[in-house]
Amino acid sequence: MQIYEVAPPETGPSLALHGGAGARVHELTAGGRGRHSDGLRAAYAAGWAVLAAGGTALDAVCASVEVLEDAPLFNAGRGAALTATGRVELDASVMSGSGRAGAVAASRHARNPVRLARRVMEDTEHVLIVDPPKAFVSGFGLETVDPEYFVTDARRRQLERVRAERLAASRHGTVGAVARDASGGVAAATSTGGMVGQSDGRVGDTPIVGAGVFARDGVVAISCTGHGEAFIEGVVAYDVAARMRYGGVTLADAVRATFAAELDSRGSTGGLVAVGGDGRIVVAHNSPAMFSAHGTSGEVEVHA
Ligand code: ASP
Repeated sequence: MQIYEVAPPETGPSLALHGGAGARVHELTAGGRGRHSDGLRAAYAAGWAVLAAGGTALDAVCASVEVLEDAPLFNAGRGAALTATGRVELDASVMSGSGRAGAVAASRHARNPVRLARRVMEDTEHVLIVDPPKAFVSGFGLETVDPEYFVTDARRRQLERVRAERLAASRHGTVGAVARDASGGVAAATSTGGMVGQSDGRVGDTPIVGAGVFARDGVVAISCTGHGEAFIEGVVAYDVAARMRYGGVTLADAVRATFAAELDSRGSTGGLVAVGGDGRIVVAHNSPAMFSAHGTSGEVEVHA
């Protein structure tokens, strides 16, 4: 397992994001790494601009995730992984440290699923909407697109390879962000196309509160990526938070213990980014690699 920890800043915000944890990271060429790195930097800059202007953690994580959804390289929004029949079914979630959450599953019409997840949180009495209709999206004034907008040639080719070779190891993706703002509030957002070649209708951990996303002020905000079924069964994001909140365990130790108990024990891989209630950052994965970017100032450290 790889784990990086950044001490809490004396003052000011913290921001960390991931662009997925899969074997594909190692398969990339130098040029591919550079493009992913540029995408992560752009996403970090978008989130950091919000935080530096005194904005909220929730606005910051949404700004970062929207950039990654728009970038065709990452498994979220445009360029997301395709289902077994070549469909795009997008999952996304947001959670604010105040304890409110919103999510969508199998979304096909909203250009930015994370925006729709936020509308669910802020403007409905629900938490999770499955297969949100086009009228539901446009009813919030959000941009709708034809589902073909999300499909890239690279993903079509990847689906063919996975079908032909059953390449389980190269099926991970997902993007996410966590932040703590200058007033101490935390938030998390996660967005994905799911696992390449998944059954139509399959929903992973991304839109499940406590599995692929969790936030609680004074404790932690977490966004996960990896083998979604294990993250759901292990309630991974909440397991980390519970170890901290009820067991008094540090963030890094909680992450280590959760990975051992809930992922390693299942033979499953993945990763997460987390920001503690004090602003410390932890980036961790037991997959061979994970795209990530983090920092407690405008300076960003990128792993790609
Ligand atoms: N966790 C996502 C899912 O299971 C996929 C991933 O992160 O690679 O849908």
